[in-house]
Amino acid sequence: MGRSIAVVGSGPGGMYAVQGLLDRVPDCQVDVMERLPSPFGLIRGGVAPDHQKTKRVSKAYERTLSNPRVRYFGNVEVGRDIRVPNLLTMYDAVVLAYGAPHDNKLGVAGEDLPNVFGSNAFVGWYNGHPDFKDLNPDLDVRSAAIIGVGNVALDVARVLSKTSREMSTTDLVTYAAEATTGSPLEDVFMIGRRGPVEATFTNVELREMGELENAAPVIDPDHLPGKIVANYMSDRDLRLREKNIETMRSFLNVSPKGKKKRIYFDFFLSPMEILGNNRVEGVRCERTKVGIDGKVRRLGEVVDIPAEIVITCIGSRAFPIDNLPFNDALGTVVNDGGKVSNRLYAVGWLKRGAAGTIGTNKNDSLEVVDRLVAEFNGPERDGCAAIDTFFNNQGTRIVSFEEWQIIDRLEVEAASDGAPRKKFTTPQEMIAALELAQGA
Ligand SMILES: Cc1cc2nc3c(=O)[nH]c(=O)nc-3n(C[C@H](O)[C@H](O)[C@H](O)COP(=O)(O)OP(=O)(O)OC[C@H]3O[C@@H](n4cnc5c(N)ncnc54)[C@H](O)[C@@H]3O)c2cc1C
Repeated sequence: MGRSIAVVGSGPGGMYAVQGLLDRVPDCQVDVMERLPSPFGLIRGGVAPDHQKTKRVSKAYERTLSNPRVRYFGNVEVGRDIRVPNLLTMYDAVVLAYGAPHDNKLGVAGEDLPNVFGSNAFVGWYNGHPDFKDLNPDLDVRSAAIIGVGNVALDVARVLSKTSREMSTTDLVTYAAEATTGSPLEDVFMIGRRGPVEATFTNVELREMGELENAAPVIDPDHLPGKIVANYMSDRDLRLREKNIETMRSFLNVSPKGKKKRIYFDFFLSPMEILGNNRVEGVRCERTKVGIDGKVRRLGEVVDIPAEIVITCIGSRAFPIDNLPFNDALGTVVNDGGKVSNRLYAVGWLKRGAAGTIGTNKNDSLEVVDRLVAEFNGPERDGCAAIDTFFNNQGTRIVSFEEWQIIDRLEVEAASDGAPRKKFTTPQEMIAALELAQGA
């Protein structure tokens, strides 16, 4: 029979765990539970629509799900349709990989004003994630503030700034394309508490900001150090940051002439309050300075940045399902190197917190799988048969991998010229289209 394992969540963390299990345990069966009909987590719902090359990693995940020893249970939410303790009675081990989808709060007054959004929600909106398709941001605005200076902030600034021609080869959903390209937006302010040296941009993404058709980056040359002095950084980090500074210096030569939009890199500003009464009007900040020890010092000077929409890109956190032990400070499930409790493991952002690239999840998931395999104990359980009985009795509408492939094909076929796909944005739409295609 072999060991059976349930993996909860089909983002990168979960998919590398599945592949690791297939490679290490020749006779195992793996069942993947995913709350949406569509697999692959943030690859579909987070990675920017104009970064289709990055999204191509899903081809490898598709090969994993096509393995006859793997079954995909799309449209199954663990914690609602089935509980973690149920899974533990059925399977030899359970790997939790349900991500960290809740936006961190800035913790300042005005954060709950209309037209203030967390990046998870905003990015989910333009990527057609069912949870956020009705977010309805008002983009009939001239100024936007993006709080945070990492890659997600760059993604948001880019999507807000690219022209319809630049976005025509992407899978930006139609309602977001209409709202962004129809927007009178002119000024995008990216606000960072620290300086350009501390900004966690990767260089390829940063360089793109200097190559936009109708938007120019604007940066204060006084913020760019001639030589980086930061005794808390490794040599490797220093080299990467030097490259970023060089790129930002090259922005000083990008002419804004003839371009409608400006993207301001506003460093050394710590947000104190979101201004406005019934809707957001700006972000009040205090000027800061960063010491060579990396510590931020507030300087007492107040600066107001105009903004009619605010998107905070300051990270996200997980949440506990089924009373799992939770580390509130880290925003992760409590775990020791991925082990949550006997036969229960966590991988990906649920385990480590919301940081790192897609690739970071690979070795991390494989380490957890190694531990899980070494700790298999007791007689084998027949999880696969038990779960079939459970869902048959419950009447859950499961979307299998073959059915997802039909939905995927329908999206690709519906795409306009040059675009990779036209996304469905609700499980209901996906299942209705699927059943129509199946002639049900
Ligand atoms: C906006 C954004 C852009 C990014 N862009 C890049 C990039 O360009 N390049 C890069 O290398 N990295 C990028 N990353 C980072 C990368 O996406 C993450 O490292 C990675 O997705 C984390 O994988 P994960 O499996 O832990 O979580 P996720 O990808 O979030 O996957 C979690 C999965 O679990 C499912 N799930 C949730 N709850 C349940 C439940 N109760 N039951 C069943 N299933 C459930 C979700 O639907 C989802 O499919 C980006 C991240 C963000 C937020």
